[in-house]
Order: sequence, then structure tokens, then C-alpha cells
Amino acid sequence: MPSNQPDRYGVIGYPVSHSRSPYIHQLFAQQTDQNIQYDLIEVPPGILKAKIQEFMEEGGKGLNITLPHKSVVATYVDDMSARAVTAGAVNTLVFRDDVLYGDNTDGTGLVTDLENNQRFRIKGAKILILGAGGAARGIIGPLLNAHACSIVIANRTFEKAIDLADRFKQLGTVTACEIGALTSEHSFNLIINATSAGLKGGAWLYPPSIVNMDALCYDLSYSEVPTPFMQWTSELGAARSIMGWGMLVEQAAESFFIWREIQPNTKPVLEQLTGKTA
Ligand code: NAP
Repeated sequence: MPSNQPDRYGVIGYPVSHSRSPYIHQLFAQQTDQNIQYDLIEVPPGILKAKIQEFMEEGGKGLNITLPHKSVVATYVDDMSARAVTAGAVNTLVFRDDVLYGDNTDGTGLVTDLENNQRFRIKGAKILILGAGGAARGIIGPLLNAHACSIVIANRTFEKAIDLADRFKQLGTVTACEIGALTSEHSFNLIINATSAGLKGGAWLYPPSIVNMDALCYDLSYSEVPTPFMQWTSELGAARSIMGWGMLVEQAAESFFIWREIQPNTKPVLEQLTGKTA
């Protein structure tokens, strides 16, 4: 007899109470008539592996993984997608026949938001990425696969930008640039803020000359009000400055598809989340 119990999913992070993922996945489930339960699971680093195991043994079907666990979970899995290997990070776990499978949907989420929602053409674009942390690492491969012309990485700790550029140089034109060496002559088509500066405070180090009127300025961070990066780029005359809500919803949709093999319609969910019609 078929069970009426919902299939269980969740997001593990530390902290995680701010996460909008339960809301997004519940909207996807209503829309596609899927019987699922999706919970917030706060887990500190020391007991992460045991908690994932426990969730799997209790019959859970899959998990999202968020800060600060994405890189370490990549070392636990039995198998991983090529994009998770390239990123060196996992944000989606699938449990199948006791096998722990890891994937990374962050970069695909950004590419889908840029191309489908923002109507931005990645092919041929000159891209500047501010920051060289986990988020930057997850988006570089998918941006290159979408045929970006070039990617420049500028980070407060320059060595990390060099390491990232080295990691991806076989996939395309990726270079590291010192923040002080960034000039208006670079004339980027897309400027992505992949730093956590807006959340943690601290001085903003990047020069105003990087922002040009025609560049799309995209902050991976998102909030109810315009982020500091959005405000900064808008004040400098950027025609379009946006936050990462679209990436958040699109990466969730890709996880949902991996788990349920159904593609949800992201547009109404994005509208409900941001209170706007796109
Ligand atoms: P992370 O691994 O901790 O990396 C943080 C980065 O920010 C590092 O490059 C760090 O530089 C830089 N940074 C921190 N404070 C700075 C400051 N005051 N000035 C300049 N640079 C500074 O974090 P992450 O996982 O990459 O996440 C970055 C952001 O992306 C977060 O806000 C996160 O919420 C967002 N994100 C959004 C989505 C989405 O779906 N929209 C998905 C993933 C991540 P150093 O190397 O010098 O320390």
C-alpha cells in the first residue's frame, strides 16, 4: 500500500535559520503536486557527518548543504557530478540505495538566472568576479561552459585569486588581478560580487572605476532591501544592479529536479519571494 508520509528533505547549515529554502521548496512542491517535507537543520561542523548519516538512515531522500559545509561535504560523498568535482563543493545530496551522491547546482542556478530571467548573454561576455571563496569557485566552471569570453578574479587575498585562476585555466581564459590594478579600461560586461563583504561589514576595497554604465552588476548576496553592492554600483551609474534571489531560486529548482525529476516553474516562486512581478 502506498504511504501518505511525505518524502523528507532539508537544508543543513550553521547558522541556517535565515534560509528561505523551505519556503521555496514548499512552493515548488505545491505547484508540481509533490508530497514532500523540507526542514531547516542547524548542524555545527563537528557532528556534520553523523547528522547526514542519521538523516539518511531515517529514510530522508536528500539534503541541501549550505555555509559553511559545502567543501567538507565534497570529501564525504561516495560519488559526485562533474560540476561538483570542478567546484570542489557540494550543495545537493541525494541518497540512493545507501549511496551518498553529491552535486552542485549553484553555478547552474546563476547561469539560468542570467540567461533566462535577466536575458543576459554570457556567450562572449567579459566578466569580473569580486571574491575568491566558495561561491566564486562554484560559478566559474558554469560561466566558462556557457562560453564567457574571459573571467578576471579580484580578491582581497590575492593568492586565493591566483589559486582559483590556476584551477580553471584549462577551461578558458581566467586570470587573477590585484584589486589595485583594476582599471576602467577592462570594460567588463558583467561584474559579480561574490564576496561576503556586505554581510560581514568592513571596508569596501574595490575601485569605483570598475563600474561602467553598461555592465550588469550582480550581487550573489540577497536581502529584503538593496545590498551595499547594489547601492554602490547604482550610485556609480550602472544601468542594472541586481541581487542573487534569482540564483537562489534557480539553484533550488535544479536540486528539486535532481530529487523529484520534475522541473518546477521558477517565475511565480521568484515573484512571491521578492514581492515583485518580474
Ligand atoms: P566565503 O567562502 O566565506 O568567501 C568570502 C569572500 O568574500 C572571500 O573572497 C573574502 O576575501 C571576501 N571578503 C570578505 N569580506 C570582505 C571585505 N570586507 N572586502 C573584500 N572582500 C571580502 O563565502 P562564499 O560562500 O563564497 O559566499 C559569498 C557570498 O555569496 C555570500 O554572501 C553568500 O550568501 C552568497 N551566495 C549566494 C548564493 C545564491 O544562491 N544567491 C549562493 C552561494 C553564495 P578573502 O579571501 O580575502 O577572505
